[in-house]
Amino acid sequence: MSFQIIDGNALAKKIRLEIASRTAALVKKGIKPGLAVLLVGEDPASQVYVRNKVKACEEAGMHSLLERLPADLTEDALLKRIHELNLDPCIHGILVQLPLPKHLNSHIVIESIAPEKDVDGFHVANAGALMIGAPIFRPCTPYGCMKMLESIDYPIRGARAVIVGASNIVGKPMAMLLLQAGATVTICNSKTKDLSAHTKEADILVVATGRPKMITADMVKPGAVVIDVGINRMDDGKLCGDVDFESVKSVASAMTPVPGGVGPMTITMLLLNTLEAAERL
Ligand code: NDP
Repeated sequence: MSFQIIDGNALAKKIRLEIASRTAALVKKGIKPGLAVLLVGEDPASQVYVRNKVKACEEAGMHSLLERLPADLTEDALLKRIHELNLDPCIHGILVQLPLPKHLNSHIVIESIAPEKDVDGFHVANAGALMIGAPIFRPCTPYGCMKMLESIDYPIRGARAVIVGASNIVGKPMAMLLLQAGATVTICNSKTKDLSAHTKEADILVVATGRPKMITADMVKPGAVVIDVGINRMDDGKLCGDVDFESVKSVASAMTPVPGGVGPMTITMLLLNTLEAAERL
């Protein structure tokens, strides 16, 4: 059976060119899409993520604002800053990098972002809009996964989709997007009994658990399309996904690699959401 790698870097590059050209058209009309990224504290992984987001924004011709805030910032001070950004006409998207320091309640913080600037799509208003099939912002990682399925012309309608992982930022919104596209969807979590009985039924298998290489070839239906969202840093410093790529590639028909799969698509969808927020004005 033929096997295809779904190249997230190549697809992200193509979509970013389209975004840059739409951004340039908007700039000509006097609107420069702007993204504010708030980083509280000095978590090293978060520092890398926010730098990459800001760099991507600039490369697309957008305005970006990176605010590094002290780890002991009070919740009131953070909410006040978000409120100012909600009112700032140069800012179309606001992103608060998670995780936040423990003394800050991430739910309260996310809910303080104006829904029309919530480019991560995590606000309950946006989660609800997605739930009823009328999304305004699709959360970036699942949105990127959908674009990857689209890129291989996968016939989602009527397909059996299984998602392993049920987080609010990946698993659940992924399920909603697949359902909306006509798939029959199962969501599995850590309590699921006989996980492989479910995964083996999947025409589309999406894995987002944070458990390195937990999906092996014997758990995958021959010919399935496998989307590996996991990003795990191993002891040798290398990154790997939640799927055992080497074994699963002998069974799947198409699969995303780690690195170079879903990761670059996530940032690309953040740009797209920011652009669309500015275009809606
Ligand atoms: P969370 O820890 O929030 O959620 C993990 C989910 O996986 C939970 O629903 C959990 O179940 C489920 N789970 C854990 N172990 C098992 C198991 N053995 N069998 C079945 N389900 C299991 O993680 P995230 O969704 O935030 O992230 C998941 C992975 O995706 C991580 O590796 C993360 O780094 C990566 N990621 C990658 C992104 C990208 O851009 N590529 C973006 C976001 C995340 P339960 O609900 O029962 O606890």
